[in-house]
Amino acid sequence: SGSPSQSCTASHPSSSADARPRQGGPVQFFYQSPTEARRPTVARGEGIYLWDTTGKRYVDASSGPIAVNIGHGNQRVMQAAMRQMEKVSYASRLFFENDANAQLADLIAQHAGPGLERAFFVSGGSEATEAAMKLARQHAVVRGESSRWKVISRNPSYHGSTLGAVGVSGDFVSEGMYGVMTRIMPKAPAPFSYRIPDGQTAETYAMACADELENIIEQEGPQTVLAFIMEPVGGLATGALVSTEAYCRRVREICTRHGVLLIFDEVMSGVGRTGTFLTSHQFQNVQPDLVTLAKGLASGYTPLGAVLASRSMVEEISSTGGFMHGHTYSSNPLSCAIGVATMQETIDNDLPHNSAVMGEYLREKLLALQTRHEVIGDVRGKGLLMALEIVSDKASKTVFPGGINAISTIVNLAMQRGLLLYSRRTAQGRYGEWLMVAPPLIVTREEIDLITDLIDNTLTAFANQL
Ligand code: PMP
Repeated sequence: SGSPSQSCTASHPSSSADARPRQGGPVQFFYQSPTEARRPTVARGEGIYLWDTTGKRYVDASSGPIAVNIGHGNQRVMQAAMRQMEKVSYASRLFFENDANAQLADLIAQHAGPGLERAFFVSGGSEATEAAMKLARQHAVVRGESSRWKVISRNPSYHGSTLGAVGVSGDFVSEGMYGVMTRIMPKAPAPFSYRIPDGQTAETYAMACADELENIIEQEGPQTVLAFIMEPVGGLATGALVSTEAYCRRVREICTRHGVLLIFDEVMSGVGRTGTFLTSHQFQNVQPDLVTLAKGLASGYTPLGAVLASRSMVEEISSTGGFMHGHTYSSNPLSCAIGVATMQETIDNDLPHNSAVMGEYLREKLLALQTRHEVIGDVRGKGLLMALEIVSDKASKTVFPGGINAISTIVNLAMQRGLLLYSRRTAQGRYGEWLMVAPPLIVTREEIDLITDLIDNTLTAFANQL
């Protein structure tokens, strides 16, 4: 991931095929400790595979940090980038409109559907979170509701690494480090489905979590609450926690009742990853007011993110002088042209559908692995956004003690076998630890067989080491 806060907490392999001591200046010094062995140098990518400079092949089973939806080495994207660069790579939105920007906005509007007809483009997920919160705030002020500024989120959650996003991200180490520099916003519990309080079912607990959101809104004072932000299917922070339709509907009702905007962070779950273009399309009567996208939007070919909003919200803001937010690279023509080609690949190949079908096949195969591996406590997720929760004991759902370094050991063993898995241990293992299994949406059944065979082999090696 490009985000330092995640890099602090996501598990990284501590050894690799290339264990040369580092020479000269620090390599990627933000991310690697001086004692850590060097990571392999990437040479090229194609489809779901990456190769390092020694010629070793890796299966990119988590699409990097769940970004490379259309796979590596896509020719259509390369040609679109080249064509745009031949025309113009950059022209400021302060002076010009650009076709790539307009085309991408139209394509997204067609697929996002009613209520999300407008798109504002930024450079990634964290900026999309910032822009969504600012858009919500400006909208409230324009409507004469300037008392509203609090953005409630969930614990745990991850919405980015910039300071505003740190304030709405729950259980990230960065809160301890940078929390004093920003405003830590109120948090409602995430509706975990694996470890639930005694006497509750997953369904009743999810409803209790939604009701807790309402309690928080009331405690904070509804007139001070601007928005609620959540991931409909979680990423690294919760290990692909699926929010059910009933929970989302209750959340939508609560937000509407209190005049609070509902923001769906679909940075990871959007653009087909969970089986539909937006995850919200899988729910009846759950229309978010704002949606953030990034990752799959340009599939790692360039930094790109977006905030989607309704035509009416944008018109209200435009009538008072426009959105008071922007970066040099907002609506960048080259990024937008790459976004258009990525969208076309996604749509023409019906990748959301492939994600739904392959996701169910992957789930079956992971459930089969669970019966044979004591350390797989839970298999969860939607489409090709799946996670394996790792436990030391299935019956008690116990998390391995920190000293065992279970997740980073598994990630290392996988990498030795040519399998890349994105993973996380929550702070002090409080919420658990997991491996994300989220290959590019172009994945085939045979490639899923390969991935699950490699996971099988990796977990057997891990069990043998214990
Ligand atoms: N929201 C979610 C749900 C994410 O998964 C991420 C990135 N992992 C972000 C926001 C931040 O995106 P970026 O790393 O592009 O800033």
